[in-house]
Amino acid sequence: MYILVVNAGSSSLKYQLFEMEKEVVLAKGLCERIGLGESAITHKNLVTGAEHKAVVDMPTHNEATKVMIDCILDKDFGSLTDMNQISAIGHRIVQGGPWLTKPTLVTDEAIKDLNRCIVLAPLHTKPHLQGIQGCLAVMPNTPQVLVFDTSFHATIPEKASFFPIDYDVAKRNNIKRYGAHGTSHRYVANEAAKYLEKGKSAKIVTCHLGNGSSISAVMDGKVMDTSMGFTPLDGIIMGSRCGAIDPAVVPFVMEAEGISAADMGNWMNKKCGLLGVSGVSSDLRDVKKVMKGEDPNNMDKVERARLAFDILVYGIKKYVGSYTAAMNGLDAVVFTAGIGENDPDVRYETMKDMEFFGIEVDKDKCYNLKSLPAPCDISKDGSKVRIFVIPTNEELVIARDTKELVANL
Ligand code: ADP
Repeated sequence: MYILVVNAGSSSLKYQLFEMEKEVVLAKGLCERIGLGESAITHKNLVTGAEHKAVVDMPTHNEATKVMIDCILDKDFGSLTDMNQISAIGHRIVQGGPWLTKPTLVTDEAIKDLNRCIVLAPLHTKPHLQGIQGCLAVMPNTPQVLVFDTSFHATIPEKASFFPIDYDVAKRNNIKRYGAHGTSHRYVANEAAKYLEKGKSAKIVTCHLGNGSSISAVMDGKVMDTSMGFTPLDGIIMGSRCGAIDPAVVPFVMEAEGISAADMGNWMNKKCGLLGVSGVSSDLRDVKKVMKGEDPNNMDKVERARLAFDILVYGIKKYVGSYTAAMNGLDAVVFTAGIGENDPDVRYETMKDMEFFGIEVDKDKCYNLKSLPAPCDISKDGSKVRIFVIPTNEELVIARDTKELVANL
């Protein structure tokens, strides 16, 4: 059985083609600059290693979908011979709102509900709808499934998901903590549970640390709390997002700096975080280079870069501590995504001096992951809490959910 997983962004379309018996990725690719001119596709056949890059006219996601399918069926670098070999398409959807909380087959009803989510996540939902339309136009007879980043967080109890604002305003506008990265938290929490004595009933803190970062408390396989909120702006410091700040800062800065409401959203999403504090970059690698005095062009920013790094580490520590309290215990901490998987300094600095919680990190293991078998346990022998580094695989979860849903059609 072949499943195509699609992740449509405003000007991009990422995809992976899965063979589901062995759960292997046969091909993956990316359409870029859709609707912007000079659009291009990069496609890779992961079985033969053949790669194809081309500049192709893609004014909308419809053309991008067609180009993607042409690549998958190409006789030189493709993987399949007939489009109908693809049993179903799974779409990664960032926000399902209160209406869509589990994998859902694309129907007129589902599209209506997804349209209601535009107000909650306009930047993501509109491109998702375009991606779905593109697939419907090119493959009208292939079942399509929506898999939501917010689904895994739907179990968060109201005491953790309801913001203490006017009850009627919150309800009228569907304002609550929806969280994000749920598919990633779900994947790594499930993987971690396989290696823990308590299995699914374990208490786990999952740290998805990338450009956008979120931390979740998972107990009995369910999310109890998560750091991202109504939008992905909440929580810890991120590449260019501020994370949680005193809400009074918002109107204060707008007035002090003469910033409009629309620009304020942009400022908090694009100009703050590691970038805003360090004055260097939203990429942690750049920030660390400056912090270590290894960037001759930014020697005046060493202290600011150090501050940005320290805020990140301190923020992660606070979440691990508070979620341990919330769950009344902790069996494992999991690190994943760009920073979590690749940055030993962040892992070590966040996990050290946490013996009080039963967390003991092994410095050698933390810095030398390659020698460790899955799930890359970097805790000391005898540490009460295990510390795992698990590469995330959101696409596989989407493919599995899609397979399961269409199997029951
Ligand atoms: P996104 O949220 O866009 O999916 P990623 O998960 O790819 O982001 O993570 C991007 C972040 O990961 C960047 O801050 C980058 O600096 C960091 N990162 C990626 N590779 C490394 C590495 N080898 N060492 C340290 N940090 C890394």
